[in-house]
Amino acid sequence: AVPQVVIVGRPNVGKSSLFNWVARRRLAIVDDYEGVTRDRMATLIEHEERYFELIDTGGMGVVDVDDLTADVRHQIDVAIASADVIVFVVDIRTGIMPLDEEVAERLRGLEVPVVLVANKADNEVLDERADEFYKLGRGRLICVSSQQNRNRDKLLDLIVERL
Ligand code: GDP
Ligand code: MG
Repeated sequence: AVPQVVIVGRPNVGKSSLFNWVARRRLAIVDDYEGVTRDRMATLIEHEERYFELIDTGGMGVVDVDDLTADVRHQIDVAIASADVIVFVVDIRTGIMPLDEEVAERLRGLEVPVVLVANKADNEVLDERADEFYKLGRGRLICVSSQQNRNRDKLLDLIVERL
């Protein structure tokens, strides 16, 4: 089976943007798992001859769209059920928000490797804000910008190292 890499994080940190950005690749196949579940997006990613499936469940499959905690809980349930690596996305522009801490708390007991991704680091000056995220716990931290195409290869290196 292809290893599963599940994206988690509170709404608006850029999970879906990151998914689309990483997926933008010659070999990527976007597939919505027809017949299995409709509540997630999955795409096959190839990096340095390694393959994994990247999964974004955020904002999908949640009945009450106003219940942000339910959305996050759902993502974490998917991650617990199937992730070989978890990509925990935060927003470097807003810094840590209460819901980020809740995600971190829920991930704390898991043995699955976590890559902590500080998204929206659109320039090097913003990278300097990254240190505060270390208090979210274990996991390698990387600054990326899905909008400005920063550090895509580094992110993929970190993921495939942990598969
Ligand atoms: P999600 O709710 O976590 O899936 O977040 P989205 O992918 O829907 O993005 C939320 C908002 O953040 C959108 O307005 C995006 O355009 C914006 N966004 C995503 N990635 C970046 C980035 O790298 N830099 C900046 N400045 N904005 C971003
Ligand atoms: Mg989304």
